[in-house]
Order: sequence, then structure tokens, then C-alpha cells
Amino acid sequence: MNDFVLPPPPIVAAPVAGGGRFPIRRIFCVGQNYAAHSREMGGDPAREPPFFFSKPADTLVTGGADAPYPSATQNLHHEIELVVAIAAGGVNIAASDAEKHVFGYAAGLDLTRRDLQAQARENRRPWDMSKAFDFSAPLGLIHPAVKIGHPKAGRIALKVNGDLRQNGDLSDLIWSVTEVIAALSRYVALAPGDLIFTGTPAGVGPLARGDVLEGEIERVGTVTTKIV
Ligand code: MN
Repeated sequence: MNDFVLPPPPIVAAPVAGGGRFPIRRIFCVGQNYAAHSREMGGDPAREPPFFFSKPADTLVTGGADAPYPSATQNLHHEIELVVAIAAGGVNIAASDAEKHVFGYAAGLDLTRRDLQAQARENRRPWDMSKAFDFSAPLGLIHPAVKIGHPKAGRIALKVNGDLRQNGDLSDLIWSVTEVIAALSRYVALAPGDLIFTGTPAGVGPLARGDVLEGEIERVGTVTTKIV
């Protein structure tokens, strides 16, 4: 019996390379997971335990669709990231078992209202409005691990209007993918459909309306969007 008092929201999904759609449950993100980016944000890249924030599933932008410049900011920033798609849930997952929980990988963008994030840090307030706004999570095709394996090294780069802005290597992650899964699964029960954005390399910077973003992660895939 359908006793919803409103039409239920649609299921958010991301296209998978080779066909099919990956249903999205939640989007988790790691903060400052490359030493050079941690330093550019004024942090200390010492190996402190990873910290997490999240975005609602319906912030996802897929298929190379446009991302509107958000309200309430004068400083929208790009962050190119390796994204992990979780196929099997669990709590207290051991890093040595973590790859068994992975469906695949994609390139994604953690769009950020940097001015609101700076205010939030200064005032010790939550990051949500700086990170979890509508259209804040463009994502490329998800490539199944059965096809591409589990990438641990490779170039991660972002061009804006053809100019190289971010250029790093997955091998520079402070916390590896398996360590991130292990750490996050101590805070929440991971579930099928969860995505984890694993952090961005150095070179973050401002965006303007009309900018075309082209991200690429070697042996993983691409993500594209235009800020409108
Ligand atoms: Mn990020």
C-alpha cells in the first residue's frame, strides 16, 4: 500500500562504465588527504587520523551535466578527487579486507564554497553549507574494480578551460583508500551505495561562471562539468 503523504524522492544513481546505474545511498568525503593540499589550507600534514564530512546523495551531478554557480558565495573552489563506490557494507572493516567492499572507482569534484568554509573554521561551526550544497558533487562514470583493479598510484589532474590547475598522484594520499574505508567504518556502518570522496591534491582555486572543468585520474576515468 502506498501511504506516502508526498511523492517519495527519486533514487539518485550514477552511470557505470559498460552499462547500468549505481544507486547512491550516502556521500562521505575525507578532508585534507594530500600533504601539499593540507599545507595550502594552513593545516599540518602530520598523519592525524582522517576526518570526514558528508554531502546529501542528491548533490550529485552526473553525465557531464552543468553545475550552477551556487548562491551565497564569492569563492567557489574546485577539488578533483578519487571517489570510491561501496558495494558491500560493514562496520570496523579491516584495511586488509577493505577492497572486498569496493564496487569501483570514479573521478569526482568536491565543489566547495571556500569563503563559507573559512568562516566555519574560524567560528568553529559545521562545514555543511560550505560543502553540502546543491550540485556540489559532479561525478564521472563509475568504473568497476573487476575491470580496472584497485588503483594505488597514477596521475590525478584537473584542467579549467584547458589550463592545468591541479596535478597530483594517487600515491601521495596520506590515508590510502583501504585505510579510509577502515577509518570511516569505525564511525558509521558503511552500506551498499555509499560513495567516498578521498580528498584532493594541491592546486585548489576559484571558479567563475562559464568555466569548463575536465578532471582525469589515470587508469580510473574522467569527470567534466561546466559552471553556469
Ligand atoms: Mn575535498
